Amino acid sequence: MSTSRLSHLKFPIPPARSAGGSDVFGVFCSLDSIEYNERNSLQGRFNVQQLIDGTRDLQIHLTQEQLEALDAYQHALVEWNREFNLTAITDDVGIQVRHFLDSLSCFQALESGERFSAKKMIDVGTGAGFPGLPLKLLCPGIKLTLLEATAKKIGFLEHVTAHLNLHDVTIKHGRAEELGQQPAHREQYDWAIARAVADMPILAEYLLPLVKVGGRVLAQKGEGAPAEVQRGEWAIQQLGGRVRRLVPVELRGLAETRYLVILDKVAVTPPQYPRRPGMPNKRPLLPKAS
Ligand code: SAH
Repeated sequence: MSTSRLSHLKFPIPPARSAGGSDVFGVFCSLDSIEYNERNSLQGRFNVQQLIDGTRDLQIHLTQEQLEALDAYQHALVEWNREFNLTAITDDVGIQVRHFLDSLSCFQALESGERFSAKKMIDVGTGAGFPGLPLKLLCPGIKLTLLEATAKKIGFLEHVTAHLNLHDVTIKHGRAEELGQQPAHREQYDWAIARAVADMPILAEYLLPLVKVGGRVLAQKGEGAPAEVQRGEWAIQQLGGRVRRLVPVELRGLAETRYLVILDKVAVTPPQYPRRPGMPNKRPLLPKAS
């Protein structure tokens, strides 16, 4: 990408750090060097300061190109949301903190060696692309499948992935219970991730069948995570999983603590799981006594 394509940006572009000084892309922006004020925003659209500060807290450094992509994503989300109800969060700071920053925090769950390798990841119940798409923008090597049951959201996902020119993104319209029984998807993924889709015992039945033994599950949860995981522990075991760890995440601009719940897939999932569509939700896997 040439700098001329960005000449319309009001966002100040820091000088290239490489000795050759060809352009700033492909190297991390030194965000500290960006003098930011209220009027400066990408394409004059959004104030990205909160996002920049928040990612810095998470030890994430977004390049100018990544910031520009997130800006385009936000613009598309706001535009499409006028016609289709994609998300209840529509204000600028809300999108940047509750959608983008929260999604990007999943980066902390990935081992350093995985962050830029070609891991196969499926985001179940992705909605308007969260957390999968911001994570893909941060880690372009990921081979991402976005799974979503609602057709109108599929239309948006197709639009935004084409608009952002993303490679290795597959969009699937369907339910986790269906994909989990299809050979093309069952036990095929290094990671299955989800945010705001279901309670842990149900979510375990959606996610664990999709993960290969040796792979992992990542569920983004709120303050009730420790109790939820305890409630889900029996289901997790039945499905071939084991709780690895819970990582508390503090996001700048959010009062509540968020959690990354990470499970290991340690054994093959018994063939009866996932049960048919609707069953995990109707009869969650809970131990008999509860
Ligand atoms: N992950 C997104 C969306 C959360 S809303 C975010 O955090 O913003 C939950 C989404 O999951 C909805 O879009 C719903 O259609 C989808 N969903 C719920 N159950 C599902 C299932 N069994 N299979 C696939 N998608 C599902």
